[in-house]
Parts: sequence; C-alpha cells; structure tokens
Amino acid sequence: MSIIVQKFGGTSVATAEKILSAAKRAIDLTKRGHQVVMVVSARGKKTDELITLAEEITKTPAPREMDMLLSIGEQETVALMAMAIHTLGEKAVSLTGGQIGIVTDSTHTKSRIRKISTDRLRKHLDEGAIVVACGFQGVDEDGNITTLGRGGSDTTASALAAVLQAEECEIYTDVNGVYTTDPRVVPEARRIGTISYDDMLEMASLGAGVMHSRSIEFAKKFNVKLRVKPAYSTEDGTLIAPVGDDIDRPVTGLAIVKNEARVTLKGIPDRPGVMGTVFSKLAARKIPIDMVVQNVVSDGKAEVTFTVPEGDLAGTLTAAQEAVNEVGSGTVVSGTNVSKVSAVGTGMRTNTGVAAQMFRRLAEAGVNIQMITTSDIKISVLVDRNLSQAALRAVHQGFELDKAAVAATQPKAPKLAARDEKALQTAVADRLSNMEDIVVSDILHDDSQSRVTLHNVPDRPGLCAEIFETVARENLLVDMIVQNIGENGTTEVSFTVPRADLEKCLTTVGKLLERLHGAYVSHDRDISTLSVMGIGLRTHTGVGEKMFRCLAEAGINIKLINTSEIRISAVIDRKQGALGLERLVAAFGVAP
Ligand code: ADP
Ligand code: ASP
Ligand code: MG
Repeated sequence: MSIIVQKFGGTSVATAEKILSAAKRAIDLTKRGHQVVMVVSARGKKTDELITLAEEITKTPAPREMDMLLSIGEQETVALMAMAIHTLGEKAVSLTGGQIGIVTDSTHTKSRIRKISTDRLRKHLDEGAIVVACGFQGVDEDGNITTLGRGGSDTTASALAAVLQAEECEIYTDVNGVYTTDPRVVPEARRIGTISYDDMLEMASLGAGVMHSRSIEFAKKFNVKLRVKPAYSTEDGTLIAPVGDDIDRPVTGLAIVKNEARVTLKGIPDRPGVMGTVFSKLAARKIPIDMVVQNVVSDGKAEVTFTVPEGDLAGTLTAAQEAVNEVGSGTVVSGTNVSKVSAVGTGMRTNTGVAAQMFRRLAEAGVNIQMITTSDIKISVLVDRNLSQAALRAVHQGFELDKAAVAATQPKAPKLAARDEKALQTAVADRLSNMEDIVVSDILHDDSQSRVTLHNVPDRPGLCAEIFETVARENLLVDMIVQNIGENGTTEVSFTVPRADLEKCLTTVGKLLERLHGAYVSHDRDISTLSVMGIGLRTHTGVGEKMFRCLAEAGINIKLINTSEIRISAVIDRKQGALGLERLVAAFGVAP
C-alpha cells in the first residue's frame, strides 16, 4: 500500500475548524487506499508567542530549554488532530518527534536529523491508523528534546517521506503554491507549476520562506516528490521535481531576506588560512554566511565582507572578533538596515547579460546596490532595507516573471527511468552515515578564466548596470561578479572573463573608465577556479570551512569566493590549481 505524507503548516491548523478540515483530507486519502502520515506544525503564531514569553524572562535563554518550550506547540496540535480524526470515525495516533524515532544531533534550536527508525510508524500504519507526527522536533542520543530550526516541520515531512519511500509528500500551506516571489510582497507574482529542486533549494535558502531549505535537500537527495498546495482549496499547487517548467528562462524566481546584516573584517593579514579561520569560527556557531566579498589586497592587508541574518549578528560579531584575535590583526565593523534581494534560475547558466538586466532595473528604480555576489544560478544584491520591496518588485517586472513561461525550446532533461531513480536514491543514501550529511558529488577545476577589477568606481545607482551592459554588448561572457560595500563614495567591482577575451575586456572597460574620474582597472590573467559541487553546501556551514582549511594547509591563498547551495567556488592562483584540485578531491573523498 502506498504511503502519502501530508504536512500542515501553522495557519492551516490554527482553529478547530481548520484542524477538522485537515483531518478530513487525511481520511479522504485513506479511503482512496493510501496509508497516511500527517506532520503538523504549532497552531497559528504559537511558536512566536512562546519565544516572546521566553524573552520576557531572559534575553539569553538556554538553547536546551528553548527546545523544551517550543516543542509543546507541535505537541498540542498532534493531540487535537488525532482527536479530530477519532471524532470523524477513523483510527489515529499522535506521536512526538522522539516517539516517531527521529534522532538528531545535540545542536539545540538548529539540530540536524541523524536517523529515523520507521518500525513504530510502520506498525501503526499497518494497524490501519493515520499517524499524526509532530513536525520540527526530535531527540538527541541522550533523549533531550531538540528542534530543527524555524520552519522545520517541512523538513520533518520530507525526511519521513524519504525514509518511508512515500509516493508523495504534500505540503499544505496558506498560499496556492510556490510563486515567482512572495505573493504577499509582490501581488503580481505568478504561481509556478513545476519548479526544479535546485531552483527551489536556492530560493528557499535565499529567503523564500514558503519551504524550509533543508526539506528540499532531503527531497533532492532521496528523490522525494514534493507538492506545495493550498490547505483551503483543492488546487494543484506546485510540484518540486528534478526539472522545472522554466528551464528556458534565465530567472525562475526572486527571494528576499529583509533583515540581513553585513560584517566587514578590515586590515586582516593576506595569507593562506585567514579565510579558513573566519569560516571555522562561524561554522562552530552554525551561522550560515553569504555574500562573501574580499577586496583586492593592498599593503599586504586584506578585507573581507559577508552577510548574515540579522538575528545571527551578535553571535557573528563575537566569532569575527575571535577570528581577528587569532589571525593577529584586524577590526570588525558591521551594518544593519540592509536587505538581500536575489534572482535565482538554473537557466542563468546559459544566458548572458542577466546580471546587467537586473542592475539596470534596480538603477531605474533608483536603488543603489551596496554589494553584489553571483554564482552560476543566482545573483544577490544588498540594498537599503527601506527600498528593498521596491527593488524586488522592479526586478520582478524587469524579468517579466508575472508572464507565464513560453513553451520550452530546449529538450527537457530526460526523466530517469523508475529503476534508475531507485538506484540513484540507494546510491546516495548508502553514502550517508547521517541522514542530513551533506552530499559532495564533484570537485571541478576551471583554469580558463581571468579576473578584472575596477577600483575607485563611484558608488551610485546605475554604474554596475553600465559596466555590465558595456561588457555584454561586446559578447564577453562574464562569470563571477562581486562588488564590495563602498567607502568614501567609491566602490570596487571584480568579475571573471574567459582568458581568451581578457584583452578585449580590458580595452572595453578602459574606454568606460575614461569617463569616471579617478577609477582604474587591475587584472589577474592567471587564475584557477576550484568548485565543490553538491547539495546543501551553504546551509551546512562545515563545507566552506573544510574547503578553505584544506586549501590553506596546501599554502593556497584565496582571491574570490562564491557560494550557492549546489556549489562553492574559490578563485586561486593558476599555478596552484592542480595542487588545490588534488587536495580537495582527497579531502572530500570524491572521484577526480
Ligand atoms: P506554513 O506555516 O504553512 O509553513 P509559511 O508561513 O512557513 O507557512 O510559508 C508560507 C508563506 O511563505 C506564504 O504565506 C508567503 O507569504 C511566503 N512566501 C515567501 N516566498 C514565497 C514564494 N516564493 N511562494 C509562495 N509563498 C512564499
Ligand atoms: N512551529 C515551528 C515554527 O514556527 C516549525 C514550523 O512551523 O515549521 O517555526
Ligand atoms: Mg513554513
């Protein structure tokens, strides 16, 4: 008999009426011959209320006690849901995370799933009961209650679907599916029919709160069919699957993190190991950093800026100060009142000029770009928080995301035969000792690029658009773009181009700079880019740490960094490319 997992979010179980309506959905499925596991969240704003209550007592609650407290929200819902199913005449049993058999690590409030034993779940299902499971929680090896991080019920659902090899995992929520961006912020956002795992993973990790990004990692790793649906109607929603509808478009969707903060370490030594130290201090606190930008070095001193969620700022500042103390020099500064707006699309890989188009729309909306980082499937910009929603909307209009995708002209990636899918799933699962282990699948080495940097560029709206439009007009294929936070009215912009095009690029950029008083260009002909490929790389803070430590131990200095959930890349000196590749292959244990 096939198993279906149904997850109901907070708003979808907020009242007795909604609980009864969710119960009916589950019963309908059992009537159609399926076994059903329901995963439910805390009702309405219950989790927020519990957090507020704790904060009234202390600003620094012990994480273990926070987990003990927050877990009660889900416990209330499962009991009510089981009662609702009983009233409707069916069998149901409610279970806590521990009772389901979800074992996590002991990182309270941000724990990761290690294993799930399915014996008890299967026993209840085989007895004909609907299992109603608490989302968001588990227990560690010592039996302490743990939680998976805000929004973590999605991850419980997709993990249960993975271990039970469920036919589908349905995520019931308060919108009609996954949209091109948050429909509550941009009313003209469009529902996406099918979105790829990679696009959804990147959008979720960059702020699209509709799904917990770790739930998409599970889905991709274990090939879970996920469907996001409205709890209040019977519409189809959005399927999250290996290939999306929008493969022909450069941009699938946009995400925003309204409350982002930036942190800069100034005057740190320019030598191998410094980035590794910074990353490891943050990884120790499980703080995911994003938008990492290093300024091109002067006087043997380096400067690095990155962004973190504002909620992690205090921990970040402590960690950054520890890093500065350890490397011997530097100061830490930070800035708030900024938001991160990102455009995501696996289709970007084969499109030129996408970044220029985004920058132009921002300029037209009068938004100055404070920082830029790109990867192969996303472009992120940091902007003034007060302008962030206008920025999001302008970019949404610019890429015409409200319009339905045109029919694909590219052949869709062939669907794996059922047998291959199973084999792939087993192969991936076999390599993991813990369910939430990261999957590193490949290490790539590209030594065909050169770096170009524009220094002393006036920091005003429209300049980046002008630079990248000029470059795109010459058909120069720009890869990584980074821009650091400006100082004294000027900023620094770096990017990579194919080495064969370097001269042409320098001439083009040279002409542009003649008009910009005081700006100048530098370049680095011989660079190599080393990339670690996999799933969940940015969220799992340990990957960056391991990569940078490994390169440091080989005496390799890092010049540029770029990250996404499926790729972390470091630009290094070309002479050290082969050595770096060899070390990374050994460190991550993948076939060269
Ligand atoms: P639940 O409680 O069901 O887990 P969430 O509040 O976590 O619900 O997620 C649903 C919300 O996600 C929506 O109400 C919407 O405002 C927000 N959201 C953000 N980005 C998107 C997007 N791209 N598509 C749909 N909803 C989004
Ligand atoms: N109740 C938890 C939260 O509000 C988990 C969830 O809803 O997914 O974050
Ligand atoms: Mg949610």
